[in-house]
Amino acid sequence: MEGIVLLTNNKTFLKITGEHNENKIIMSEGLINRIKNLEERTAICDKSEISKLAYLLKDEHEEKEIDILAALGINKHEILKGVQCPSCNGEMRRHRKSWECKDCKCRNQEAHKKALEDYALLFSPYIENHAAREFLLVESIDVVKRILINLNSCKTGGKKFRSYQIPLSPLK
Ligand SMILES: [Zn+2]
Repeated sequence: MEGIVLLTNNKTFLKITGEHNENKIIMSEGLINRIKNLEERTAICDKSEISKLAYLLKDEHEEKEIDILAALGINKHEILKGVQCPSCNGEMRRHRKSWECKDCKCRNQEAHKKALEDYALLFSPYIENHAAREFLLVESIDVVKRILINLNSCKTGGKKFRSYQIPLSPLK
C-alpha cells in the first residue's frame, strides 16, 4: 500500500522543508505517470495467490472481543435487570407463560428475547439458568429452563452447568 498526497489546484505553490518526502506529494497532472510507475514496480498477484490470500484472511479472522462495560466505565451492578415492556418500557413480570407489564398491563410472550439480547451484548453470548433467572428476575428454575430451551440455540456444558447461546437479531 502506498499513500500519496494529490494537489488538484495547479496554482498551488508548495515549499517542502525538513525531512518530508517530496515524492509523496504530486500535482494532478502527474497522477497518471505515478500510477503507471507503481504498476511497473509492484508485484501483482495472480488469481490463485489472491484466492489463497482471501482464504487465509477468512480463516484467520477473529471477532474482536470488547468488554463494553469496562470500555465505557460502567459497573456491572449499574445495569438494570428484568424484562422491559415493548410498549411503555415498564417492568414486566412473568405470568402464565407470558410477560405482563406492571404499568400498562400489556402482555407479550417474547419480551424476554430483547432482555437476553442485551445480556449477550453486555456480558456474554452464552447464559446459564442461574444467570438468566437473576437477569430476567424470575425465580423458577423450570420456567427459565423452558425459556432457554425455546431459544432453540446451541447448548454447551453438561446438565448441571448448561449454557445456552443467545440468538441475536440481525442488525438493522
Ligand atoms: Zn407497559
